[in-house]
Amino acid sequence: VNPQNVALIVGVTGIVGNSLAEILPVADTPGGPWKVYGVARRPRPSWNADHPVYYIQCDVSDSKETQTKLSPLTDITHIFWVTWANRPTEAECCEINGAMLQNVLDAVMPNSPNFTHICIQTGHKHYIGPFEAFGKVKPHETPFVEDVPRLPFPNFYYTLEDIALEASKKKQGLTWSVHRPAVIFGFSPYSMMNMLGSLCVYAAICKYENVPLKFPGTKAAWNCYFVASDADLIAEQQIWCCVDPNGKNEAFNCSNGDLFKWKHLWKVLADKFEVEYEEFDENQEYVSLSERMKDKGPIWNEIVKKYNLTETRLEEVSFWFADLMFGWECMLDNMNKSKEHGFFGFRNSENSLISVIDKMKGYKIVP
Ligand code: NDP
Repeated sequence: VNPQNVALIVGVTGIVGNSLAEILPVADTPGGPWKVYGVARRPRPSWNADHPVYYIQCDVSDSKETQTKLSPLTDITHIFWVTWANRPTEAECCEINGAMLQNVLDAVMPNSPNFTHICIQTGHKHYIGPFEAFGKVKPHETPFVEDVPRLPFPNFYYTLEDIALEASKKKQGLTWSVHRPAVIFGFSPYSMMNMLGSLCVYAAICKYENVPLKFPGTKAAWNCYFVASDADLIAEQQIWCCVDPNGKNEAFNCSNGDLFKWKHLWKVLADKFEVEYEEFDENQEYVSLSERMKDKGPIWNEIVKKYNLTETRLEEVSFWFADLMFGWECMLDNMNKSKEHGFFGFRNSENSLISVIDKMKGYKIVP
């Protein structure tokens, strides 16, 4: 079969990139059958290798390498931008993330005449500013809605939007969409921010040490309403924007469509790892997850060995990100715009949590 659409996933092993790599090649995916190219720097990991994707090892922050590896591709129709680079300051983040996107566009636009759409994944920091701005700018009012003015602080999300818009002005028929998830519930062990990944490792260590699963967060985070974004759902929204005219040239929030509380999901997490559940206790001193995990490297190596797990290193687990999410009340968003434009996808967040844990276990990332 001739593919109608040809995807380039930039960040194919990331938390949403891996979902796209799984979903796009499936025959009945909207716009399919898709031919799929996927880019990342590291060699292809075993848990990504089953997906029928042409894997390209390329560092897109290197303009020369990007030209060499991507300009020979002449059939790309859609780009999925699901990557990012972190730097000490937001000004540097704007520079590096902008350069990465520009490098890819410079390689694709002159060579793929049928390039028609680019999906840019950003997130809630569009509404609250980058980590560096916390406490310095007043965030937007919750629940977040898409069409608010930008905050007066540098933000690489704005840089990405501007570059996509600029590209679409240059090439007739090129459209864009921006996707703004909340915290993502997804699988990838290569993700720089994987909240559930870090909670699974924490739970596995508690089980191994035979101690109860304490909540490593604040009372506010335990009790408040939370929203999350299932990685597969984000992939579905991005694909919808590729195939539906109503999804073009718009920014969309992308969360599961329900609310939950960690006080309830904590029990589910404990059950999945058969570890003793413990309620939040405000008389106990707050100890962050990073602090709790800082000396556990050798224990984790023992667990990996004992259960014959896929090699991962504790230093690469994003406990810091779970700490941020558990530091204060979650900020909620609003899904009306997405629904009004015709995307009705949703997830049950508890089931999303369970399916991520099952996948983590299935691929032997955790016991
Ligand atoms: P991940 O960290 O999960 O994945 C990044 C992917 O990009 C990996 O495949 C990585 O593989 C690849 N990559 C990184 N640098 C390069 C490079 N220079 N060249 C080629 N490939 C590269 O990404 P996310 O999905 O988390 O992030 C995408 C956007 O989503 C970001 O803007 C982020 O802020 C936002 N977001 C994320 C949330 C989350 O919970 N994770 C929540 C809300 C928003 P490799 O390292 O091998 O190159």
